[in-house]
Amino acid sequence: MKIGFIGLGNMGGPMAANLVKAGHDVTGFDVAAPCPEGVAPATSAAEAAQGRDVVITMLPNGEILRSVASEIIPAMDKGAAFLDCSTVDVESARDVAEQAARAGILALDAPVSGGVGGAQAGTLTFMAGGTDEGFAKVEPLFEVMGQKAVHCGASGAGQAAKICNNMILGVTMIATCEAFALADKLGLDRQKMFDVVSTSSGYSWTMNAYCPAPGVGPKSPADNGYKPGFASELMLKDLRLSQQAAEAVGSDTPMGQAAAALYEQFVENEGGRGTDFSAMLPRFEKRKRG
Ligand code: NAD
Repeated sequence: MKIGFIGLGNMGGPMAANLVKAGHDVTGFDVAAPCPEGVAPATSAAEAAQGRDVVITMLPNGEILRSVASEIIPAMDKGAAFLDCSTVDVESARDVAEQAARAGILALDAPVSGGVGGAQAGTLTFMAGGTDEGFAKVEPLFEVMGQKAVHCGASGAGQAAKICNNMILGVTMIATCEAFALADKLGLDRQKMFDVVSTSSGYSWTMNAYCPAPGVGPKSPADNGYKPGFASELMLKDLRLSQQAAEAVGSDTPMGQAAAALYEQFVENEGGRGTDFSAMLPRFEKRKRG
């Protein structure tokens, strides 16, 4: 396929490189990052989008997505697909999809889970919102860049799935970390805590697969000085998006709200920026009950 790829950062760069490796013809554009080997550089987003079967965006936020979308939609052919893989607010995803649909373009929001490692290895999970026709058109590309793609529903459904998942993840990580810190103070050995919880009703992905305690459970960023992994500021971004969405639809999400406030405090005031989101554990270790 002829593909345009806009946003070649930590995630977009390796995703575009995998498309080239699979034999696709990829033209790329980024305001700062260089094109990976084999991606033909364009001088603007519109140029990268012109005459392409599919245009993929992997951008920092909804505002930038809106501005890039307004540049590329008029440049794209009717019947082409616009696949946004960024994590953005549900409203921006829906607005951009509407704008694309008016121009006869198939729009999909398909945020990913799996991080930079998943982008490099081509093992991302895509959660997609859009029409059946749009999903079918880009499905072969999901197979190259990822290992699983779920069609979640109409436009915005992919973003909705992503922020609901990550709200659970943020809340669960905090609960796992505060429980470890409490266990420490109660004199309970961390390995014993893991042995019990990982096979009891408190088990979770954050305990069993991504344990925040170093030297306990499978290898995780905790074993690498809390180097991300999934950075605390990215968790904060997703928690904020979940609260923005909850506010828009009037949904009561007290745990999500508390998690957003805690990660905000951690990232903005407590040196959490640049650490893995599991570094909540050393944070709790240092604190006393307030
Ligand atoms: P990044 O900052 O490394 O990459 C974003 C790229 O977009 C940058 O290279 C930047 O120069 C480029 N860009 C910004 N404005 C632009 C414009 N107007 N035109 C063209 N290019 C522009 O970020 P990332 O880590 O690659 O994340 C991209 C998206 O993926 C974000 O929405 C993020 O939330 C999401 N995401 C990231 C991870 C992760 O672990 N990094 C995991 C899942 C989802």
